[in-house]
Amino acid sequence: MSRRTKIYEGKAKILYEGPEPGTLIQYFKDDATAFNAEKKGTINGKGVINNRISEHVFTRLAHIGIPTHFIRRLNMREQLIRQVDIIPLEVVLRNVAAGSISKRLGIEEGEPLPHTLIEYYYKDDALGDPLVAEEHIACFNWASNEEMHDISSMAIRINDFLCGMFAAIDIRLVDFKLEFGRLYDGDYSRVILADEISPDGCRLWDMTTGEKLDKDRFRRDLGGEEEAYREVARRLGLLNGEDNSPGEVFDLSHARSRLRGPPPLKK
Ligand code: C5P
Repeated sequence: MSRRTKIYEGKAKILYEGPEPGTLIQYFKDDATAFNAEKKGTINGKGVINNRISEHVFTRLAHIGIPTHFIRRLNMREQLIRQVDIIPLEVVLRNVAAGSISKRLGIEEGEPLPHTLIEYYYKDDALGDPLVAEEHIACFNWASNEEMHDISSMAIRINDFLCGMFAAIDIRLVDFKLEFGRLYDGDYSRVILADEISPDGCRLWDMTTGEKLDKDRFRRDLGGEEEAYREVARRLGLLNGEDNSPGEVFDLSHARSRLRGPPPLKK
């Protein structure tokens, strides 16, 4: 049996070479890190849950016309994705003050922001992913003006859609992080949504109790992170009824295994 080629290993995911040119396999680990990997741990079953939640979110976003790297889920921990050149920006959308903005600007956590904020962080672990202005992005050519226009308009649409999707299950979308990549077609490229959307990269608060249902449980040593991630999946309708152990996440891969190759990307 031949070993597959590992393309990249990150804190929570591994990318392997895909079955066809232009594709990759994204593997979701249970590893959790925080504070630029100063804190390390595992959240049992997180990879399985995040794979499923991210599949669900990316599929719903595709339905509203957001182009994404997601092709299909392959199994409990893996999905087939389009290979892109990741734009070196973490795009953070904030609806309510929490985390770094509260610290940086002295705004109480939980204070609703007058309007949604988009922030850009330069993706560089050695520098601790610093906050940057659009002027820096243009100056150092991390993304073109046209790409930034596409990124910000997609980010706002994604935020609007996800706020509604989570509100419907009594969850407030406080903030979240997006990553985008360039998909090449000959000499041209277009920007599509990449990475993942899961409780690892979102702040999700129960609207009734204020309970945190995201990675802050791990970051702040609150405990119950496995239950919190499962609760998000359960409310999204992704767990099988009573027993919401990770093994019970619906596996629809068998139904899709007959599909061959990436479907054409919708314009
Ligand atoms: O830490 P901060 O408040 O800036 O995080 C804002 C949002 O972006 C949070 O939902 C957090 O989970 C996400 N984030 C992330 N990866 C990072 C930094 C932030 O997913 N490297």
